[in-house]
This record gives sequence, C-alpha cells and structure tokens, in this order.
Amino acid sequence: MKHFSFMSTRLTASALSKALISFIALVCLSLILATAWQMNQSKRERIATAQIAVSNIVLAAEQQAQDTLRQADNTLRDLVERVEHDGIAGEQQTRLTKLMAQAVVNVEGIQGLFIYDAQGNWVANSFSKGVKAKTNDDRAYFVYHRDNADESIHIGSIVESRNTGDMVIPISRRITAADGSFAGVALATVPVAYFQKFFERMDVDDKGVIFLALNNGDLLARRPTLTALMTTNVAKGDIFTRYLPYSDSGTAVITSVVDGIERIYAYRRVSGLPIVAAAGVSCEYVLAPWWAYAQRSIILTGMIILALVLLGILLYRQIKQVMTAEGELNIARNELEIIAQTDSLTHLPNRRCFDAALHREWGRASRNHSTIAIILLDIDWFKQYNDNYGHLQGDDCLKQVAGLIANSVKRAGDVAARYGGEEFVMLLPETDLAGALSVAEKVKSSIADNCMEHSASPLGKLTISSGVVVIDAPEKEGYTAALEEADRLLYFAKTKGRNRVEGRLIQGARADNHLAEGLPATLVI
Ligand code: GH3
Ligand code: MG
Ligand code: MG
Repeated sequence: MKHFSFMSTRLTASALSKALISFIALVCLSLILATAWQMNQSKRERIATAQIAVSNIVLAAEQQAQDTLRQADNTLRDLVERVEHDGIAGEQQTRLTKLMAQAVVNVEGIQGLFIYDAQGNWVANSFSKGVKAKTNDDRAYFVYHRDNADESIHIGSIVESRNTGDMVIPISRRITAADGSFAGVALATVPVAYFQKFFERMDVDDKGVIFLALNNGDLLARRPTLTALMTTNVAKGDIFTRYLPYSDSGTAVITSVVDGIERIYAYRRVSGLPIVAAAGVSCEYVLAPWWAYAQRSIILTGMIILALVLLGILLYRQIKQVMTAEGELNIARNELEIIAQTDSLTHLPNRRCFDAALHREWGRASRNHSTIAIILLDIDWFKQYNDNYGHLQGDDCLKQVAGLIANSVKRAGDVAARYGGEEFVMLLPETDLAGALSVAEKVKSSIADNCMEHSASPLGKLTISSGVVVIDAPEKEGYTAALEEADRLLYFAKTKGRNRVEGRLIQGARADNHLAEGLPATLVI
C-alpha cells in the first residue's frame, strides 16, 4: 500500500543528516522559545502581583492622608465659623485657645492650631502659655489667603514650624470679615513625621518608596525620608509628566528622578484634595526571585541544548562514517560488477555479460517485433597457433583479435564479448542480415589484413570464421536455438575452408525451433 511504501522509504545518508540537523535545530529553537515565553510570562505575573500590592499601599496612604486632612479641615472650618461669627476679642480669645488645645489632643495628626489676624499676627493658638507671639505674614499660605478670596481648604508646602522647629504641613482656611474683606487665617499643622511613621509600617522593600506630594510636585512626606525633603519637587518625574495628565490613578515602571532607582509604582490623586499619593517597590526586589528562577531555567535549557547538540554531532559523525563506508562499498561493488562482467585477458565483456545482454535485447526485439543479429566468431587453427608459438603468445594473439573485434562494433546497443577460449560473439540489435554479414566480413578482413603470422595454418596467417544468424521478430525464449544455429553456421564455415562468414535469416526463432539439419537454408557470402 502507498503509505507503507512511504514509511519504509530509506533516506539517503545526506538526507538523514540534513533531517537530523533540522530536527535538532527545531527542538533547540522550540526549547529556547518555550523557555523565553515562560520566563516572560512569570516576569509579567510577578510584576502584576507587585502592581496589586503597591496599589493597595497607595490606597492605604491615600486613606490615611484623607482622614487626617479632612479631620484637620473640619476643625479649621469650625474655628473659622466661630471667629467669623463671634470675633476674637477678650473672653472669646481665651475660649478659642482652650478649644484649640482640646482639638489638638482629640484630632489625631494635628500638631498645632493657629489663628492669625489680617496682619499675620498670632491671635490664638493651641499651645498653652509661654509661646512668644510672632508674625506669620511672610508665610506662603498667609499670602495666598490674603490675596485670594478662595474659602476652601489650602494645603501648603512643608514649612519649618516657628514654634517647635519640626517640619510641618500647613493646612489653612481664610477668615473673612462680614464685609467680605480678609480678616485672617486659621491654620492647622500636621507634622511630616506623622505620615512618615505611618509609611514605615507599610510593606515595601528597602529600596521601595512611598510619598505624598502636592499637585505642584512639592513633596509632603516620603519614605525613605530625604534631607532635602522640604525643597524637593517631583513635578519633573514621569508620574507627574507622563501619567497623571492622562489618568488620576494607575501603575507604571519608572526610574525615580530623586534617587535613580527603577521601581514599579502605583499613583493616585487623593480625591477631593490637591495632593497625590504614590508608592513604588524596586524592580530589583520584585524581580530577584524571578531572576533566580530564570537563571535556573536558562542553565537547564542550555544543558539540554548542549546535550542535544552533542548527540547531534555524535550522530552526524556516525552518519558521515556510514556515508564514507557506503561510498567505499559502492565503489568496491561497482568494481566487482565490472570484474564480474569482464574477461580478464581481453578486457572484453565476458560470457555472463553477453548472456545478460542477449536476454535483455532478445526480450526487447521480441516485444518490438524487430530484428536481432548474433555473430559467433572462432579463430582458425588456434590450437596449432598455441602449439607453434606457445601459450603466452597465444594469449597475446587473443588480445589483439579482441581489440580488432571491439573496434568493429560502433552502435550503442552493440555488444562484442569473449564467448570462451578463442571464440567471440557479437550481438547487434535491430540489425538485418545484410548489416550483420557486413560487420562479420569487416572483422574477418581486419584480422586477415592485419597479417598476424600463423605459419601452422594452411592459410599462412591468422584468420577467423564466423556464423551469422539474424532473427526477425524473435519469439520469447528462442535465443538458445538461435545460438545453436549460429554455432552450426560457424561449423559450416569451418568445413568450407575457414576464413569465411556463413549466415542466414530466421523468422521468429523459438526454443523448440529445430532448425533444419543439413545445409544450407543459408545465405553464403
Ligand atoms: P578450428 O580452426 O577448427 O577452430 O581449430 P582450432 O584449433 O582453433 O580449434 P580447437 O577448438 O580444436 O582449439 C581451440 C584452441 O584454443 C584450444 C586451446 O588450446 C586454445 N585456447 C582456448 N583458450 C585459450 C586461451 O585463453 N589462451 C590460449 N593461448 N589458447 C587458448
Ligand atoms: Mg573453437
Ligand atoms: Mg578455432
């Protein structure tokens, strides 16, 4: 069946080595691709997990900031309402001071509460006595409220408290007089340390970061803290320039403008407040376990590929050896074939070769109903030649005769062979009687004309006789009969004096074709 023959088709050695190399290359490539894909996939998974974790941290930071600042704002709103309604003269100032001191205790995160008049003078604060009155008209938040009628919460950049020396975030509201004019500022201070302590409890690595910043990029709090925290602005960083303009929250892999560390960040605008919360874990921390895993994968894959390549080289060498051995064997086989088909003395095709050619050409002539000629040739008085000149010279003579016979066949399908002893045979496919007789005559003349001395022959020189038989449309298996007839004709030539050619045409020789005994149904030349 067809598919079986396909399966059992034997590959040549070079096709096999090509297939082997391709197969190994394909396996190696697949392994590399699979490893790369898996590494990439696990990297993505780790980054995704880190993004979720860092987003949660930002949510917590946002919540914390919102809770603290809202509470501070509520307190301020209350104070402003009181001041605007009741004023701050006399009794009222004492009451306010008490209230403010209590609020600082009650509201977590607030370090101090202050009320300034329209000139920036401290008129009340949450600190008990001993605090020297100061003027704060130079502070940015004061200037802001003085110059803007905006009555919403204002969160300022970090300032150093003139009271405690701590870094604080000023949260303030405008106090407006009944006629709408500026009447002062109510201020709550939240220490930066309050947020930073909270950040310390969050789960980020040593190189991780958490920060709060104003919308203008001024940092409000940061873990790890910076010596230049008060003056650091991150507005030029990727979060502010590349991400926040398009989305109020998200995640991104960014290299920090502050410390140059690459991190997986999550960021959010704190809803309702002019601040941004962000947190980042260092890529190094997130990817370290992945990289360890990736290295193991790379080493393992590399080892498998190495083993495959070594196996491939081994197999390739084996195939090469087989190829070389096969090549040598083919050469030897061809040589053997030539030896098996060649006569060692004359170098003409031998009897075996002739038999095969006869079988082949007879079949073809039988199928095509064409003619085929057989010429049997026998050197005259050769026994005497040997006796006279010696066996070695006899061999030389046979070689010369063989050369002359070989030279007289010209057509591609013609075969001239040594039939045995001093007998030769010629096979001339698709040749009629006239043609075959002419070839036999040519051989006869060329030997006679060559004037090889044969003093023991009555003719004085070496001669040859031949029997020519031409079969028209031979029948299958009839070649034995044809050979017998050629032999009979040769014998006839001998009896008629030698150095002659005898021939005849037979219609369709068969195995059982007993050709007429006695002579001559023969064309004699
Ligand atoms: P005829 O004219 O009737 O053919 O006589 P003839 O002597 O040629 O015939 P015969 O068959 O009696 O002798 C053939 C001789 O050829 C016998 C043998 O010594 C010689 N012969 C056969 N093969 C070889 C060979 O390979 N080398 C040599 N030197 N002689 C051979
Ligand atoms: Mg003979
Ligand atoms: Mg002879």
